[in-house]
Amino acid sequence: MSKSKKITKKAKVETKEKEPLLLQPPRGMKDILPNDQCYWDQVRRTTEKLAREYGYLRIDTPIVEFSNLFARGVGEGTDIVEKEMYNFVTKGGDKVALRPEMTAGTCRAYIQHGMNVLPKPIKLFSAGPVYRYDRPQEGRYREFYQVNFDVFGEQDAILDAQVIQVAARVVQSLGIKSVQIQVNSIGCAACRKEYRELLINYLESKKQKLCQDCKNRLENNPLRVLDCKEDKCSQVAATAPQSVDHLCDECRVHFKSLLEYLDELELPYVINPQLVRGLDYYTKTVFEIWSADEEGRKSALGGGGRYDGLIKLLGGEATPAIGFGLGVERLIIEMKRVQAKPYRAPKPRVFLAQLGDLAKKKSLKLFSELEKSGILVAESFGRGSLKSQLRVADRLEVELTLILGQKEALDKTAIIKNMITGVQEIVSMDKLIDLVKRKLKTDNVVVYHDNSHQNNTHDGDQAAQ
Ligand SMILES: [Zn+2]
Ligand SMILES: [Zn+2]
Repeated sequence: MSKSKKITKKAKVETKEKEPLLLQPPRGMKDILPNDQCYWDQVRRTTEKLAREYGYLRIDTPIVEFSNLFARGVGEGTDIVEKEMYNFVTKGGDKVALRPEMTAGTCRAYIQHGMNVLPKPIKLFSAGPVYRYDRPQEGRYREFYQVNFDVFGEQDAILDAQVIQVAARVVQSLGIKSVQIQVNSIGCAACRKEYRELLINYLESKKQKLCQDCKNRLENNPLRVLDCKEDKCSQVAATAPQSVDHLCDECRVHFKSLLEYLDELELPYVINPQLVRGLDYYTKTVFEIWSADEEGRKSALGGGGRYDGLIKLLGGEATPAIGFGLGVERLIIEMKRVQAKPYRAPKPRVFLAQLGDLAKKKSLKLFSELEKSGILVAESFGRGSLKSQLRVADRLEVELTLILGQKEALDKTAIIKNMITGVQEIVSMDKLIDLVKRKLKTDNVVVYHDNSHQNNTHDGDQAAQ
């Protein structure tokens, strides 16, 4: 008995050893390293600031939801649900998926928590990772990050215009100046049905010229043929009937007033009749935000649209809604390309050096007292020699170095060294913090706990994970 147990144990160990440990994340996923965080910080801070200014409230929903939420919400016939979802069954037997987009989860939460009783419009903002089992390529990952804005409860086109404006503001505020907005209207349930028939008829007549995917799409998702990336398909799409020519009265007026609002906002838009977006839930307005380089090469940064039927489809009361998502990796690629400024975190202006056992002990507490009073301090506690600590202080270009030696630790004093003039003075410990603050000129001092940072820290950290 005990012998066989031993053998099994041994066998287990052996198989474990045989399995090589790959020191890399799964394909299509990546680390966001400390060096790159300044760009991520800039995106987080900018989107959170704009979300606040435009009245959006933050919401965070789970990364994992029941699979059928996406099947129902995003659409069975879409590539996202059909081919790209990370589906799995939990130990308890639940069929779940990693979210391939954020709107379905936000809508689920909206219904579940009865947000429909809140004063309209209800504006929600979220940020975090989404997952698509797609072919990885430049700027396209299987785990990627989005910022997502959704507005519930208004059908007026002025909301559509403001949502598009927010999307453009996010992009422009990040320093990406050459922004193009593409808009289209794909109509409502009523007029889309008629247009769909018309489109199917047209596509049937050109069926031989379509790629295999589009031949399959023809019946259940003909609109997708219009934004197929295959050359031959876009040629067919170019002469296809356009949804904007077949809108019902209500949809036509809605689209017309959207364009008037966009004109009023002086936003640079073009009408793209081929723009349909990949998801089933869109109605009326759809739009995309593009950036263009000097050679005219364009890259899509994100997009969105109106989805007046989705909340009802998911079991809530009929609620018009509109939203958009922007891909954070795409934004960062563009920021780097146009050499936009990343966020620069405040740098420490004070260095704390220590010498000797007692001073070393005291310095740990002094560090935290400085931190609590809002002074950003650097240290190199692990180093013993004062010379090597001062070298670090020099490299960090701090303005003041506080030196705590054996004598100072006994006397309850510290030395303040002005790193620019080299002047040193001895100060008693109880006056130290006030003096440091005064020396850094309280007004200009980079205070770690400044208001904007405090408001951002929590959410920002969330988005980072
Ligand atoms: Zn309509
Ligand atoms: Zn095609």
